[in-house]
This record gives sequence, structure tokens and C-alpha cells, in this order.
Amino acid sequence: MKQLKTNPKRLAYLSEYRNKNREKLRSYQKEWAINNRDKERQKSSKYLKNNKDKNALKSQRRRTRIKNIKVYIIIDRDIKRLYSQPCFFCGSRENISIDHIIPISRGGYHGIGNLQTLCKSCNSSKHNKTMAEWIYKSKGKRVANPTNLKAL
Ligand SMILES: [Zn+2]
Repeated sequence: MKQLKTNPKRLAYLSEYRNKNREKLRSYQKEWAINNRDKERQKSSKYLKNNKDKNALKSQRRRTRIKNIKVYIIIDRDIKRLYSQPCFFCGSRENISIDHIIPISRGGYHGIGNLQTLCKSCNSSKHNKTMAEWIYKSKGKRVANPTNLKAL
């Protein structure tokens, strides 16, 4: 079996077969996935449970890919800078977190230009709203730091 796998003739044949039958193979795969959906789901959820740490990054990447968003490399210095600032909205310096100004789920990109410092309380209240929506909806309920809001 091992010999077969590494046999260059066979490899060439396989790759040619794959190229020639791409559509057919794809539809087989699709059909199989439909017929085995539950089985697959069970298998992958079990696997994820057993490999939590290993898969955190992987699943994050997958989610990113699924949403087809733009991802830019963010350098440590920028992350440090964001964490050193007070909450953009309320000015708190406690429980600092980083927020996507335009949420990823709303088409925002993952890059430094779309990141801001928010405290965890403000961040979870903002959730997947844009700044304008959030401020409008939380009018009167949350206290904003006026110097920060001038920049909006
Ligand atoms: Zn805050």
C-alpha cells in the first residue's frame, strides 16, 4: 500500500483523474456530506471538545474565512497602544478590551483602522451595533466621556 501511494505513476494518474473528474468528485462529496450531516456534525463537535486549545485559532480563522472579511496584520505595538488607552466611550481605565468599530458581522474589517478601545462593559453593551446605532440606542443610559465623543 505504501508503495502504491508513493509510486509516481500512480500519483500522476490520481492527479489526472482528479482533474478530469473534478465536477463529479465535487458532487459526490456534496452528496456524501448531505447524507452524513449528523454523523459529521457529531464527529466534529466531539473533536472540537477534545482539542479546544488547538482549535481555537483554527476555528477563528475559519469563521473569518466564512465571513469573507478583510484581515490585516495588526502589530503588537498597536495592540499595546489600544490597551493603554481609556475606554473611548466612558473613559474608564478598567477592564479594557478592543472593539471593532464596525462589527465584523456588519461587514467591518479586522485591522487597526477599525479597532478602538472600549471597556468590557461598553463593549458588551455595544455588541454588534455601530457606534452611531449604539449611542442612539443607549441615549441617557450610558454616560459618555464628552472629550472622546467629539472625535465621532
Ligand atoms: Zn466604557
